[in-house]
Amino acid sequence: MQIDLSTNFDELRARVRTITGKYGDAYWRELDAERNYPSEFVDECSKSGLLSALIPEQYGGEGRTLTEAAVIMEEIQAAGCNGGTCHAQMYIMGTLLRYGNEDQKQRYLTRVASGELRLQVFGVTEKHTGTDTTKLRTFAEKTDGGFRVNGHKFYIGRGQHSDLMLLLARTTPLDQVKKKTDGLSIFLVDMRESRGKELDIRPIRTTMNHSLTEIYINDLFIPEENLVGELGKGFRYILDSMNAERLLIAGECVGDARFFIERATGWANQRELFGRKIGQNQGIQFPIARAYASMKAAEMMVRKGTTLFDAGKKVGEEANMALLLASEASWEAGNAAIQTYGGRGFDADYDIERKFRETRLYQVAPISKNMILAYLGEHVLGLPRSY
Ligand SMILES: Cc1cc2nc3c(=O)[nH]c(=O)nc-3n(C[C@H](O)[C@H](O)[C@H](O)COP(=O)(O)OP(=O)(O)OC[C@H]3O[C@@H](n4cnc5c(N)ncnc54)[C@H](O)[C@@H]3O)c2cc1C
Repeated sequence: MQIDLSTNFDELRARVRTITGKYGDAYWRELDAERNYPSEFVDECSKSGLLSALIPEQYGGEGRTLTEAAVIMEEIQAAGCNGGTCHAQMYIMGTLLRYGNEDQKQRYLTRVASGELRLQVFGVTEKHTGTDTTKLRTFAEKTDGGFRVNGHKFYIGRGQHSDLMLLLARTTPLDQVKKKTDGLSIFLVDMRESRGKELDIRPIRTTMNHSLTEIYINDLFIPEENLVGELGKGFRYILDSMNAERLLIAGECVGDARFFIERATGWANQRELFGRKIGQNQGIQFPIARAYASMKAAEMMVRKGTTLFDAGKKVGEEANMALLLASEASWEAGNAAIQTYGGRGFDADYDIERKFRETRLYQVAPISKNMILAYLGEHVLGLPRSY
């Protein structure tokens, strides 16, 4: 298998920059202060086709590879934007695309591709069960013509800003299934009608501007035709999309690392103290150089992962390692940038602290790095399962 490290996708990157160039630091700073959603940015990215990069052309998307999609997210982050506000639209639809029926794709995917509908919510995590996903308690009970759902989803991104949600719920009680991963199903929920009624969506304030919510689900009716794939197989379906999610977010982390390194280098070359530029001091220069090396190594792992994904190969190991390495690289680069900026590293007007808060998330969500290490230990190194 050839991994092409020489193609840089310059045209695609330039296209992303025509949009990011309109949404500079001040735009994100103001939204961050008020914890507001970047609607204009997300709508422009959607309408331009960037967020439907992975939707096939026959459904109105651009039919691009995951490698290209990761490049788009990287470039968004490198420009100082916050792609975490909209990245889910890129990968959530993978479950629908792979396991949805033709009617669902025609009804929803085409309108997601055109930017008419936002598919930004992936409802998996719950308060009491957290990482122990198969114990989740939200239950979808079979009823006439569909399902009646009750439960609670916790730490769900963009709950107030999406039209559609992909929801994971139990359809067979845990004590009645052979394997704990059985009996979970995926539903496509049209949130527009039920918001404020069967769906009680409440904001949660977080360290960074992420539009986080919790969603109380009270007697929500989901029509039969919105079950995605087969009943009881939902857990397997989401595992598939999670590799794409990890690789795309790893691409974002590479972009964050680029942002920090470019800014730190610029400041180190500009700020003069003791009669010379601070970048002349090895105490300033070396952490930036080390962060650059970590970023380049992570970038290679992302490219390997997306190339394998695009070729339809198994990618669990690479997707997990890409996210681990890239999220640590962006954090390392953020630390180097703060040190370089000194007090200004903590000053909101310089945007380093904002990005620093944003990039920290990716060592915890979408998956905590502990679980990545547990995966590598067990599935790659053959060590005993640790949990
Ligand atoms: C900003 C943000 C956005 C999010 N967006 C979404 C979303 O859109 N949709 C969604 O479904 N979820 C979302 N999440 C939830 C996220 O996926 C979870 O927070 C994350 O997976 C960890 O779960 P938890 O918070 O319940 O922590 P817990 O499960 O309580 O775990 C706490 C810590 O213990 C560690 N731990 C637990 N078990 C083990 C073990 N066996 N070995 C080693 N360490 C272990 C975990 O790794 C973690 O570090 C989001 C979270 C945040 C903060």
